[in-house]
Amino acid sequence: MTHPILELQAADTMADQLRHRRENLPEREQLRATKNALVRWNEARMVTRKRVEELGATIEQAERDSRGIDQHLERLNEQMRTIIAPREAEALQHEIATLKQRRSELDDLELAALEEQSRADDELAGLLEQEGELTEAYMAADKEATSAEADIDGELTRISARLEALRAGVDKKVLRRYDRLREQHLIAAATLSGSRCDGCHLDLSAAEVDTVKDHAAKGGLSDCPQCGRLLAV
Ligand SMILES: [Zn+2]
Repeated sequence: MTHPILELQAADTMADQLRHRRENLPEREQLRATKNALVRWNEARMVTRKRVEELGATIEQAERDSRGIDQHLERLNEQMRTIIAPREAEALQHEIATLKQRRSELDDLELAALEEQSRADDELAGLLEQEGELTEAYMAADKEATSAEADIDGELTRISARLEALRAGVDKKVLRRYDRLREQHLIAAATLSGSRCDGCHLDLSAAEVDTVKDHAAKGGLSDCPQCGRLLAV
């Protein structure tokens, strides 16, 4: 007959495995991955949207500046018609040339900004298209992780009721030793397989094996001489 401590150990091992599984759920990893994807997507969207706005402001400013220059040029051309002194005319021509140069630079700047804005617009549109898919993946992963955890929690609740019943059937002194051993090793109670302790996987001498078997025949437990675990047959 199996010693009750071994049944307790088996139930504790099962609970340990469930807790380990709960800590390392692939569903949890998938949830982290989908959440990260959503965070990265949101950052990209904000950066791109901000760039579109910046470029819009650059274009507006270039257009305002160009209009100002055009008006200025108009006034200078008017003046040109009334000037007679060659030195003044030369100064005016120089000013007009400088303004035209500045006007042309503004045109180039605006064109470059328009081209970049068009690319950023496309990029933003592409990003916005991904929103539904990314959100759905995240929600689905969240649901799966929650459901996987709930399944394990259900099993753990059942095992904890079983553990309570099993512990009630074990001698108090043995239970205290078992609990202390459990703090050091996950496996506190081991069986003798042949001449080997299946806790530490070391062989016992023939005399030691006989002692363990003697105790077991009287319903008792031994300590493994190698690892100190409770040893049953
Ligand atoms: Zn051992």
